[in-house]
Amino acid sequence: MDSQIKQIHQQLVNKQITCTALVQEKLDLLKQNTHHTVNSLLDTQALELAAKVDVKIANGETIGLLEGIPFGIKDVYMVQGTYTTASSDLLKNYKSAYTATAIQKLLDAGAIPLVKENCDSFGHGSSSENTIFGAVKNAINPDLVGGGSSGGSAVNVAKGYTVFSIGGDTGGSVRQPAGYNNIYGLKPTYGRISRFGLMAYASSTDCVGPLAKSIEDIRIVLNVMSGKDIKDQTTYASAEIKDESISNSEGIKTIGYFKNFIESDAIDAQVKSDFLVSIEKIKAKGIEVKALDFFEANTLVSTYYTLAMAETASNLSRLDGTNYGERIESGNLKETYSVTRSENFSEESKRRIVGGNQVLSQGFSDEIYLKGLALRDQISENFENDFKEVDIILSPVTPSTPPKIGDSLKDPHAMYLSDAYTVGFSLGQLPTLTVPQGTATGLQISAAKNNDELVLKFANFLKDMI
Ligand code: GLN
Repeated sequence: MDSQIKQIHQQLVNKQITCTALVQEKLDLLKQNTHHTVNSLLDTQALELAAKVDVKIANGETIGLLEGIPFGIKDVYMVQGTYTTASSDLLKNYKSAYTATAIQKLLDAGAIPLVKENCDSFGHGSSSENTIFGAVKNAINPDLVGGGSSGGSAVNVAKGYTVFSIGGDTGGSVRQPAGYNNIYGLKPTYGRISRFGLMAYASSTDCVGPLAKSIEDIRIVLNVMSGKDIKDQTTYASAEIKDESISNSEGIKTIGYFKNFIESDAIDAQVKSDFLVSIEKIKAKGIEVKALDFFEANTLVSTYYTLAMAETASNLSRLDGTNYGERIESGNLKETYSVTRSENFSEESKRRIVGGNQVLSQGFSDEIYLKGLALRDQISENFENDFKEVDIILSPVTPSTPPKIGDSLKDPHAMYLSDAYTVGFSLGQLPTLTVPQGTATGLQISAAKNNDELVLKFANFLKDMI
């Protein structure tokens, strides 16, 4: 599909539609939808903003490309004055005091936020069932999960309820739901977009990521959100990615894939054969393909969950009912903390907090946490060596197709293993894009750090050939 942003922009400028009608239509769709994608609607503000855009157009003023474009926001981003619940009981009545940098940049460009979107609570999950707002239903088959943790965002884009949505990706939460709902979803290089105002899950891999129906829309939104931010010291300045510079595949000569991902027993037979067919098509275009060695999926998943749980236990320790969230009074202060946290965190979040505190505790941290950090260094080194040999690494997004609603909750360990192909690229802090092609849940395109442009370029090349 071509850029919806550009198409809508033209329709607005040519007065074929009004911004108010457009926003109202999307709000109605969101309100009526039965996929559980909405935590709260930002309808009053959205309609006010739309009216202002219409006045500008009526007065003959020029409008920016994103001006009047309706979008969605995963409910883990601060947007001043809006409910920001992280889909949790703990924060169900919490309102943001300020706005996340990435979202502010979109607001400054004139984009109109419509909705805070359902997701796994605090980003903890791969199915968007770990939420107080009801399991998100898949856009293609509502008996299946929407994917997670940015499930509401992916389904909204896939169903056309938002033009694009902003998800968050710590270990796959943009890429996996994008794959489950057949759209594009980008996890940029870590630090390209400021995390300020994104609720922290695992700070060393948390990334802001756009979901959309075209590569062009991903590029437009990525450019607007990128850049150094004084409020996030891990950010860096990046050059704008130009339309022309991603329109051909020049410079991409060699790609690689991880042999063990494809040879694993855990991969669905169809996903495997579809992936191998894609590889053959790429070879037929004269691109060299190398089979690479990589860490076993079990090692990747264990390393990721060890570090992610440690970081989330630490990040969520601030949520004790004192400054934020639903406080439940009990006998004394300590008990108040305990009851507040036990009653208001979900089972999945508690599992991670307990696991993370165990990993970090005296007597265990050397054995487990430090080992996790050492493995992460080895994973990054492996990627560095790979990218001396190949320009792009291609992989399936998930080993299998989306589970039925209810199944992941029964077996959290199986759910963790379903992240086998996404978490490695997170630990490596690489730019990785899901494209809705090649396998039932798409393909992941990864490049070396700061090479987001190459990822989009290869996506354009694939678009016309698979
Ligand atoms: N499914 C992974 C997890 O639960 C990734 C989640 C995410 O990226 N927020 O940790």
